[in-house]
Amino acid sequence: NTGLRVSIIGAGSAVFSMKIISDFCKVPSLSDSHIVLMDIDKTRVENVRVLAKELSQYFGAKLTFEIADTIKGAVEGSDFVINTAMAGGHGYLDLVRSIGEKHGYYRGIDAQNYNFVSDYLNLTNWNQMTLFLKIARTIEKYAPKAWYLQAANPVLEGTTLVSTQTGIKMVGFCHGHYGVEALAKFLGVSEYEWQVGGVNHGIWLTKFTTKEGKNLYEEIEKVSQRIKYEEFKPSNPFDDQLSPVAWEMYKTYGLFPVGDTVRNSTWKYHRNLETKIKWYGAPWGGADSEIGWKWYVDQLSQVVNVIDMFAKMLLSGVKINQLKTGTPIDDYLKEILSEKLSGEQHVPFIKSVVTKTPGRFVVNVLNNGKIKNLDNDVAVEICAKVCGEKFEFEENHIPERIVNWYLKPRILLAKQALDAFLSKDVKLIADILERDPRTKNSEQVEKLISELYPIVIKKAKEIEEQE
Ligand code: NAD
Repeated sequence: NTGLRVSIIGAGSAVFSMKIISDFCKVPSLSDSHIVLMDIDKTRVENVRVLAKELSQYFGAKLTFEIADTIKGAVEGSDFVINTAMAGGHGYLDLVRSIGEKHGYYRGIDAQNYNFVSDYLNLTNWNQMTLFLKIARTIEKYAPKAWYLQAANPVLEGTTLVSTQTGIKMVGFCHGHYGVEALAKFLGVSEYEWQVGGVNHGIWLTKFTTKEGKNLYEEIEKVSQRIKYEEFKPSNPFDDQLSPVAWEMYKTYGLFPVGDTVRNSTWKYHRNLETKIKWYGAPWGGADSEIGWKWYVDQLSQVVNVIDMFAKMLLSGVKINQLKTGTPIDDYLKEILSEKLSGEQHVPFIKSVVTKTPGRFVVNVLNNGKIKNLDNDVAVEICAKVCGEKFEFEENHIPERIVNWYLKPRILLAKQALDAFLSKDVKLIADILERDPRTKNSEQVEKLISELYPIVIKKAKEIEEQE
């Protein structure tokens, strides 16, 4: 066994923490790890500890837990640091969005071509990016050999920022590539080979064949010619992998978009609620409409309440496998208690690094030539075999069309966002807004900046002062 020390920052993110901790329970070589939980919300992190201890007992694992009050306390001596924190929480995102809307920017100023995911703010989340840097610099100083695993968004900007500003070992993870499974199921294939490449929330299916090597793009092409958009009925706001947008993006750019890439299309699909409903399906208009996002945030707050209730029940002697709510949360709990891993890549990655067991992952790391024709100093999301600390990146071919029409513009936005953040120069934000299709005149930009940016700067300062 490995006796690792792993810290989770933002551990109160209950759904995520429980998945990670249950994965530690289910991987025997890691099931004696010491897990350090850190969060500024004391109730949420205490609840996670109660559930985590029960979970470890239920699986007969030997995990131990500790709550740390500060980032330094969590990081010092750790082998791995997982960051799932969201500075300011959903309340901050809502505030920023509402100020944007007040000045004529539907869904807030962060909503831009190729960046519509509603908790993926890169122009106003200076508090979040300050937190990323703070954690990374604490690792540099107090646990320089530790791996920093980034789960919190924005993963593209966050991985680029940390990897260019510090020298620590870092990987960003997302679970978006599971979208391939929905596509395969739709086409009726159960055994297939696949590969994705691009940037986080901008990944494309670069290989898709049967085990025998038959190119499944032939099937995609056939379906694309006969698919009837009006027949698309999503089962929830996030059910978009087979939406009209995905097929249109395929027809426009030439490869199939995977996972949250479908949310990151252009204004053509996002101009207003009516447009979103037309393309992402009724009644929600996708996850990033005002209706779809409310659905998601309501679900999250329900989960937080249920976790609170579960923690109280466990403390009063109820066993973890007897917990019930009569809601979809029961299915989630059932999965956690099953033998199956959660599908999050963090724990399998830790296992591959520590026990030198080869594993295939979709990782976010600095490009440095891994995708030709893209800048070296930006994080790309690609497939790699990991064994010990060695990464073998798969060769990929991303057509020029996708590079020039999708990836390069998205990367440019990331670089501009990071430049504005690092220089704290609001003139640069104004310059981005001057190019925005929602801007009518410069006065609109000035009024927006003068109301929004004092808040953005103040919130970032609060994180700077956090211990
Ligand atoms: P949340 O607000 O419910 O939870 C985040 C936790 O972070 C909270 O418990 C909060 O108290 C804590 N936190 C906030 N500021 C902190 C600070 N300064 N120091 C320590 N802890 C702090 O958010 P969520 O909906 O669970 O999302 C968390 C993050 O994960 C977001 O960035 C979201 O975009 C991201 N996310 C990533 C993926 C992925 O696959 N990579 C998937 C879903 C969500």
